[in-house]
Amino acid sequence: MDADEIVWVTRAGGAPWLRATGLALDADGFIQVSDTLQTLTDPRVFAAGDIASMVNHPREKAGVFAVRQGPPLAENLRRAVEGRALKPYCPQRRWLALISTGDRYAVASRGALGFQGAWVWRWKDWIDRRFMRKFGEFPQMEAGTASTAPSSVQLGEEEAAQALSAVAMRCGGCGAKVGATVLSRALGALHPVDRDDVLIGLHAPDDAAVVRVPPGKAMVHTVDFFRAFIDDPYIFGKVAANHALGDIYAMGAEAQSATAIVTVPAGLEAKQEDLLFQMMSGAIEVLNDANCALVGGHTGEGRELALGFAVNGLVDEDMTSVMRKSGMRPGDVLILTKPIGTGTLFAAHALLKARGRWIDAALVSMCQSNRLGAQCLREYGATACTDLTGFGLLGHLVEMTRPSGVDSELNLSALPVLEGAEETAAAGILS
Ligand SMILES: Cc1cc2nc3c(=O)[nH]c(=O)nc-3n(C[C@H](O)[C@H](O)[C@H](O)COP(=O)(O)OP(=O)(O)OC[C@H]3O[C@@H](n4cnc5c(N)ncnc54)[C@H](O)[C@@H]3O)c2cc1C
Repeated sequence: MDADEIVWVTRAGGAPWLRATGLALDADGFIQVSDTLQTLTDPRVFAAGDIASMVNHPREKAGVFAVRQGPPLAENLRRAVEGRALKPYCPQRRWLALISTGDRYAVASRGALGFQGAWVWRWKDWIDRRFMRKFGEFPQMEAGTASTAPSSVQLGEEEAAQALSAVAMRCGGCGAKVGATVLSRALGALHPVDRDDVLIGLHAPDDAAVVRVPPGKAMVHTVDFFRAFIDDPYIFGKVAANHALGDIYAMGAEAQSATAIVTVPAGLEAKQEDLLFQMMSGAIEVLNDANCALVGGHTGEGRELALGFAVNGLVDEDMTSVMRKSGMRPGDVLILTKPIGTGTLFAAHALLKARGRWIDAALVSMCQSNRLGAQCLREYGATACTDLTGFGLLGHLVEMTRPSGVDSELNLSALPVLEGAEETAAAGILS
């Protein structure tokens, strides 16, 4: 058959990976579920939407069914966790289909009825936009709930009882420390870098770590600590470790050892352990990359997840490699090693006003180490440096120009700025 264009239209089929799950699938490869949206194979696994095929109520693959299955799915998940009877769900038999023909015209059908027109398109457009708005316009966060860090989670009866007794006995007398077994299990799976100058560290834990200062070197001390601003403990661990290392690099030093200070929300031990493991995995990746040995730490319970590090670094004793805030000289050029804008972006994120891709890109930038940037500055004879963090570019610039006795001139259009930061700042959202 001759043709200019061939469009081969098929019905939907299940994704190939579903076959490897061991779950019962229908002839088209979709997961078979009962009226309670539980899979036929395992009542603890639920499926809804396009991926699922209700064995008693077969329907087309359409958004209308996927969306409507959301509330009964949520309800039955909650009931399953609470050990209550699940509710059967029956999808509607008829539905309104509105099909746009691409030219601001649409065809509608419901059962045996059908109609069409530009007004049908406008109607569809109104319905679609109203629905999509729900994904872009969120209620403003209440003050005091800025952290989205996970707290405790309810599970089976035994674990719930364990959680209850833990809450009843929660005390701060021991420094609200997290149990030693939780700690050792969480940290046991991690591998901090080994250094010859660490004489007593995590490999043989004691009351404190003992670290040698090599001849000809002076020690640089710094500490940084902040609460979780995102709900991904692994990324948060990376950002916190990078943040703490930043001050060492800004001084022109190399990192040597670090001790961690951690606050985890009260909860089931298994959840605390998992949280600690994820957070410290991210942190240790960054510390290892900096050849900085994690030599100890303290973990306590508190309202919000928080992490910080005391970091020790080394510089040459003669101080020639040290870059100070006061080292600016007339004629110097200012170099930003990373784009700015995290303050306004995360303030916007807290208000649910930032786009996901802006926050993703900002996190990638925050996970980028300043080690090589600082090394480059040292090699090319930079005399002044600082770590731009809490006070913003202008705040930190004042901290440098004042002790240096110089003025500075910024070319605003030359500033590297994270995507979205200009929009959020223009909207008046500042940290
Ligand atoms: C071109 C087109 C037009 C359509 N128009 C309409 C319409 O006008 N009206 C209507 O009612 N319906 C319409 N549909 C159908 C509708 O889009 C679907 O029924 C609906 O999106 C199903 O929702 P869902 O949440 O079940 O699945 P999806 O929306 O497909 O969401 C599943 C998500 O899971 C992700 N995913 C897949 N595998 C993995 C994995 N291994 N790990 C992690 N994530 C994974 C996918 O990337 C996807 O984001 C249309 C579909 C298409 C393709």
